[in-house]
Amino acid sequence: MLGRTDDRPTQALADHAGCLPIAEVRDELLRLIKMHDTTILVGETGSGKSTQLPQFILQSGMARGGCIAVTQPRRVAAISVAGRVAQEMHVTLGVQVGYSVRFDDTSCARTRIRYLTDGMLVREALADGDLKRYKVIILDEAHERTLSTDILFGIVKRLQACRRQDLKVVVMSATLDAAKFADFFGAGRVLHLLGRQYPVELLYLPEPVDSYVDAVLKAVLQIHAHQPPGDILAFLTGQEEIEALQRLIPERAGHMHASGDSGQATLVPVPIFAALPPEQQAKVFEAAPPGCRKVILATNIAETSITVPGVRYVVDPGFVKARSYSARTGGDSLQVVPVSKAQARQRSGRAGREGPGKAFRLYKEETFQALPAASAPEIQRVSLALLMLQLKQLGIEQPQDFDFMDRPSTSAMLRALELLLALGALGAEGALTPLGRHMVRLPVEPVFAKVLLAGAQLGCSQEALSVVALSSTDPIYIANRGMQDSAAQAWKPFMSALGDHITKLNIYSSFLEVRKADRRRWCTEHHLNFRSLKKAVDIRAQLAEHLKQLKVPMASCGSDMAPLRQALLSGLFINAAVLLPDNTYRLQASSQKVMIHPSSVLHGRKPPCIIFEELLRTTRSYARNVTVIEASWLPETAPMYFCSKSTATAAPLREGWQ
Ligand code: ADP
Repeated sequence: MLGRTDDRPTQALADHAGCLPIAEVRDELLRLIKMHDTTILVGETGSGKSTQLPQFILQSGMARGGCIAVTQPRRVAAISVAGRVAQEMHVTLGVQVGYSVRFDDTSCARTRIRYLTDGMLVREALADGDLKRYKVIILDEAHERTLSTDILFGIVKRLQACRRQDLKVVVMSATLDAAKFADFFGAGRVLHLLGRQYPVELLYLPEPVDSYVDAVLKAVLQIHAHQPPGDILAFLTGQEEIEALQRLIPERAGHMHASGDSGQATLVPVPIFAALPPEQQAKVFEAAPPGCRKVILATNIAETSITVPGVRYVVDPGFVKARSYSARTGGDSLQVVPVSKAQARQRSGRAGREGPGKAFRLYKEETFQALPAASAPEIQRVSLALLMLQLKQLGIEQPQDFDFMDRPSTSAMLRALELLLALGALGAEGALTPLGRHMVRLPVEPVFAKVLLAGAQLGCSQEALSVVALSSTDPIYIANRGMQDSAAQAWKPFMSALGDHITKLNIYSSFLEVRKADRRRWCTEHHLNFRSLKKAVDIRAQLAEHLKQLKVPMASCGSDMAPLRQALLSGLFINAAVLLPDNTYRLQASSQKVMIHPSSVLHGRKPPCIIFEELLRTTRSYARNVTVIEASWLPETAPMYFCSKSTATAAPLREGWQ
């Protein structure tokens, strides 16, 4: 998607843009934005908000002498929309139109329309409190209520009230809950865009299903066999499910063909999820070849972030993977949870954009009625450690003074402050320590920032950098169905009895030893994801640059992995667990029971004490990305958590930074 865009005449693109619902209200919209500090624009997905409004503003001259920021909760959307707009404007992506997502900045000083993830704009605000380069800030997909978008609401409102009276803000949302936004920003300048919506017939199942993935497969095949032409959009919760169906659909559809049980068209699965390479993501926008029916297998990305044309049938199993804070473990975990009514409506609406459609909800109608109206904003669900750290850096000493659209609970804020205290980011009076100031400048979660900085103190910054870079990229393993045995064989030489981080570090080191020209082939042979490893090299270089700016000493621990494991522990201590007689593990900080995930190299090995990166909850709680540690390290690394609290003082690792 990068590089020069297509220079051929693109009348079709211009015609397409001119027909979008937003084109009809262009002048009124610009008038509203000129008149008011903040404007709220509500419009159905696909009505042209993300691609057209920034162009209108640019043409109007309102952003003269500055830049327009457009935030997106998802990096995929930022990259894809920027590419589309560069194409529509016949300009090179990265120059007049660009994007900035974590570890990938394709924009420059000349960029006038800059798509960025909401998290990146928060980071910019931390460095330049006044966000001076922007004349207009558009907060897109506001209904998603991500943590960073919520922080931005408070940041831009504060700026407009004092130091940036000239700043224009547009808040865009796909759902109709505009009253709340209008209320927060203190006025009623709301413009509703009427999207094109044809009737969508809703179909429910009479009985609940055992496996929603099987049910999706069945529904897709039945639609293909019995329904007139039109593409299918099926929602799943993650990459693994999507890849499984990508393999199964052609197999099963082939059987149906053979048995004469299907329409004549060929069914072509097209995946779309965040970690998919951009070239492949672009495929969802291409029309199906003649005689073919496309079935788009999508994560929640396709709910509102990305508008896929040609869809007539939607298959919605009613689940989504969401990050949420677990009071029991004290950290975030990824969980598959039921969607809200608003999400189910968004999903089914996607079937009626170009003509009447059908939505197959793979649950009972009563189940729909029992769903919550909308999901809680992220700020009320996730760990607030990063938020608290960022607020402190913004100079907001008392987080409760910040203007939140929905205030997080006091107990959640206190827990986050407690974690930051234990990490050494805050001092006893609650002010940022020098270590905390360093942590906030690193573009990773506070726990990983601590791993990097502790790594520097422990003489293993080189290794810590690689491990954190690998944790910040997409999965490096590829195990296609039927290939698991040869994959396991290929990975064997890298496996470490010390756990997944060191195993990945071994892979990374071997990857670097291979000549650049041979790396792609080496990855294929070893069932590894070339793109992820290449990305890790890039991320590592960027993180190393940050450490250099912080004047952090760089050193390697050679083959002694103890310092690296200690560095990991000093960030991830909240996820320390000890082995129980029944071969499960008990989290030290919360007493919750977890098991080692089958994908871990430590599965079945039963080390007495572990830390892990992520908790995955299905019917059980699984620890993923696990490393073996010594139980004796716990009290000295995080005394607040592992000693009696009354005797706890500062963690030794913190002292060097004060
Ligand atoms: P909204 O923000 O209101 O959801 P968008 O501006 O994202 O709407 O999309 C408007 C139209 O542009 C849609 O019809 C969509 O299919 C098309 N579009 C958006 N991004 C791309 C892209 N990367 N490639 C092709 N078409 C796109």
